[in-house]
Amino acid sequence: MVDFSLSDEERQIRDTVRAFIEKEVMPLESDVLRNERTGRPGIERETLRELQAKARRSGFWGVTTPEEYGGMNLGAVMAAIIAMETGRTFVPFDFGGYADNILYAGNEEQQQRYLIPTIEGERISCFAITEPGAGSDARSIRTTARKDGGDYVISGEKTFITRGNDADFVMVFAVVPDEGVTCFLADRDMGWKSEPIPTMGEWGPASLVFDDVRVPAANVLGEVGKGFDLAMAWIRRGRFMIPARAIGSAERLLQMAIDYAKIRVSMGHPIAEYQAIQWQIADSQVEIEGAKWLTLYAAWRVQQGLDARHASSIAKLNGAVMANQVVDRVMQIHGGMGYTKELPVERWYRELRLLRIYEGTDEIQRRTIARNLLKGHVKLGEIGD
Ligand SMILES: Cc1cc2nc3c(=O)[nH]c(=O)nc-3n(C[C@H](O)[C@H](O)[C@H](O)COP(=O)(O)OP(=O)(O)OC[C@H]3O[C@@H](n4cnc5c(N)ncnc54)[C@H](O)[C@@H]3O)c2cc1C
Repeated sequence: MVDFSLSDEERQIRDTVRAFIEKEVMPLESDVLRNERTGRPGIERETLRELQAKARRSGFWGVTTPEEYGGMNLGAVMAAIIAMETGRTFVPFDFGGYADNILYAGNEEQQQRYLIPTIEGERISCFAITEPGAGSDARSIRTTARKDGGDYVISGEKTFITRGNDADFVMVFAVVPDEGVTCFLADRDMGWKSEPIPTMGEWGPASLVFDDVRVPAANVLGEVGKGFDLAMAWIRRGRFMIPARAIGSAERLLQMAIDYAKIRVSMGHPIAEYQAIQWQIADSQVEIEGAKWLTLYAAWRVQQGLDARHASSIAKLNGAVMANQVVDRVMQIHGGMGYTKELPVERWYRELRLLRIYEGTDEIQRRTIARNLLKGHVKLGEIGD
């Protein structure tokens, strides 16, 4: 049965998150802009943790985290709906109580040392697969991990690692000779170094250098030689979250454009009366709605335990392109004001551009979609199969 309705509980969660974002997070937007424009982080870690603690007191903590780790254990569809709500603001906020899925692959001891402190916000993780010579072609990474007694010695360089400059441990992917790509949990005090990379967006990633970093064999996450599958499963499972967040941003931006079009007068009329503006508004909503249903469908497949790879690639490609088209139109509707730093449109424009590049570029999503069709892995005309 196809059912587009939310249950009462789901609607209540969505409304509570929306109210929290509007009341507690959006008021910080002007501070975030001011901080970023003077080269400081948009929001201090302490402020973020206070906000997360406040949300926790009203029951929001660990949205997708299993209950045995203190989380809400909500499904992928609800996670997508919540990401749409948090995406309405550019304040870098998320509900705490979360750890990368991949950390659940850890054994009991690793869970105590890495997973649980990450969920609690006491430790910061980062995920490092990309290298200067291997981005889209992640299979060709060169960082090596040589076995030496009870340790592995890691050498190589990682690049564009989100939170890489703040993290106190990394899930790093390296090639063990004769065994293959393996994931290691490497603490910063084991000796790796990081350097921030200035980017167009506000939260810059980092490069990480491993110069013979010694990591105990007990820190292998999962099995030796099975790291690539672990990485890809994690990335694929969460891919729908990127367009989900983008939908919230695009809706907020479109509302700004609608409000502005009604008050900005040109040639004797509010610009909202001109068809040139109306069509931009209409096209934007059509694209946002399309992205919403593709994203919810991908999330639903994840939730049902169905193969979600194809649907997630479609949703990610479509959502990233949609968000960039919408923010471009919203800037256009604002004219010169849209281009100034007085409004957040230019900031959003810079942030959303990233969506077409990371976690699989547009071209890589197209490649996946085309290959699935050409090889017959996916057939046209299927709904929910
Ligand atoms: C801000 C930011 C944060 C990031 N965070 C992380 C992180 O936390 N961890 C991590 O491991 N990585 C991270 N990345 C890396 C990101 O995933 C890569 O940048 C991305 O996968 C693209 O790789 P690349 O930059 O090497 O581009 P390349 O792979 O060199 O691609 C260059 C161009 O060639 C195209 N191209 C490549 N191969 C093909 C092909 N076969 N067919 C057609 N076109 C192709 C690409 O689409 C692109 O247009 C981050 C990147 C950025 C910018």
